Amino acid sequence: MLAVNGVVMMDERIISKYPFLREGARLFGNILVEDILSKNKFSEARRIAISQIERALGIDARIFSSDYETRYLAYHISRMVLSYLHDPILTNRYATMFRDIIEKEILREEPEIIREVCNALSIDSQIEGNNLRISIMDYVRAIKRLGERYSLFYQRVRGGYVYLNIDLERERIAKVVREAFLDYFRNDIENLKPPDSIFQYLKDDIERIKMLRDERISSYSPGEFGELSPESFPPCIKSIISSIERGENISHNARFSLVTFLNQIGMEKEGIYAIFQKVPDFNDRMTDYQIKHITGERGKTVYSAPKCSTMELYNLCVKNYVRDPLCFKEWMTHPLIYYRVKKKSKIPPGPK
Ligand code: SF4
Repeated sequence: MLAVNGVVMMDERIISKYPFLREGARLFGNILVEDILSKNKFSEARRIAISQIERALGIDARIFSSDYETRYLAYHISRMVLSYLHDPILTNRYATMFRDIIEKEILREEPEIIREVCNALSIDSQIEGNNLRISIMDYVRAIKRLGERYSLFYQRVRGGYVYLNIDLERERIAKVVREAFLDYFRNDIENLKPPDSIFQYLKDDIERIKMLRDERISSYSPGEFGELSPESFPPCIKSIISSIERGENISHNARFSLVTFLNQIGMEKEGIYAIFQKVPDFNDRMTDYQIKHITGERGKTVYSAPKCSTMELYNLCVKNYVRDPLCFKEWMTHPLIYYRVKKKSKIPPGPK
């Protein structure tokens, strides 16, 4: 690292650790995206990018490169793939994985680099003596998911800034940076526009990730879906609920799909039970048994909500009637994905 007139010049090693730093474009950015996605020369970067996404899905896939450019490019290929897949939970898992890596790096990083990282993550910060000075607004935004001991009340605050001692409060600084990275990364993926050609070049990898994601979507925990949002339910689930509300009897498959879906997005059993009370052949004891069985309260298996292709087989997919554009997206493979994406409706439409 070199500082010229107070401006920090980043080297390749630092950029490979923090590939979101703007300096990366100066050092490695002179390559066409099409080349990165297609040329043999960059195949290692592509392999690492895919393996990192697989790791976010819980697959033990670790490929490492000591080449700084490869590591930098791998990060940016991952961004493009995640943006193409348009799955907020997968993006979140990747962001969390990367967040933890950044936290470890910041614990032993040089102060000037920490400041550069902060600024890249939109944290207004400066080094002042032995302190990192962060604007109150940015500090508060970053710590919103952290515990009470990070609250403003316990910090040294002066003139609109929070002062964190670089030696004594390094852990706190690392936490602030890692949390800011989460917000930055989610936002970045939402706004990124991957080239249409990405699917053409990485078709096999993308198909494999989609398959893994669909297999593993049952391991998505209710907490990952956030607060309940009935208006974001997919058309197939809304249609089953409407049938119940009209007093119609619904098939076994429809009941199964509805209970598994509602359970996976975190609805309490009492809420699921209340919906089923409107079914004409409602049987108190039987409904209670079925719900407990499907949600794993009785027995060891927690059943997963069926994916779109299974819903079609069950004749429960209604996309051709409602013509909801989301259902026609290339990446729409699961009602849970619909729900998650719809909840984040500010996300611009993904690839067709
Ligand atoms: S495409 Fe999927 S989410 Fe949409 S209605 Fe069909 S099954 Fe439901």
